[in-house]
Amino acid sequence: MSDHQNETKSQVPPVIPEKRNRSMEEKLDLLLTLLATKEARVAEDEENKEIARKARNAQREKSSAAHVEKQLVKQARCRHLKGGKLGPLGGVPNYNVTMHTFINNRVEGKCNNCSMRWEPQDTKEFLVRKGRKIPNHTKQGWDEFRAMFTQSTNTPTSSEVPLQVQPQIIPEGVEA
Ligand SMILES: [Zn+2]
Repeated sequence: MSDHQNETKSQVPPVIPEKRNRSMEEKLDLLLTLLATKEARVAEDEENKEIARKARNAQREKSSAAHVEKQLVKQARCRHLKGGKLGPLGGVPNYNVTMHTFINNRVEGKCNNCSMRWEPQDTKEFLVRKGRKIPNHTKQGWDEFRAMFTQSTNTPTSSEVPLQVQPQIIPEGVEA
């Protein structure tokens, strides 16, 4: 198969000048026609590229939505436990959750199995994100997260607090 077979056939008809002597005016006319044809081809090419780009983006959005959907199903099914499919060893549940405190004192719970995140306003029914209530697909809120965290061997983590630079106070009359 040659490369030409893969290309989209151009809608712009080619200009095939007949071989004969031309006046200056005719030559200019032909040149303008050739230029216009070239321009039309370039525009057509740009348009085709744009169509292809839009198709690629649509496909990307589709697979990203599918990814989110998959993640939500995983989080809804997750038991947030350590020990994989065998479950807790010795019958004592050990949850694979951690609690993190950020520099601004915001706290967040997280499951290391399914990446579910819980925030303090979350209830069994709703997750509160950016002031909006969204249905809680895990049916576990902040209280339930805290209960799981109590039964976890994981320890809380926190972002490092930058050292506060204490302003140096030099008493009056004392030379530094
Ligand atoms: Zn989980």
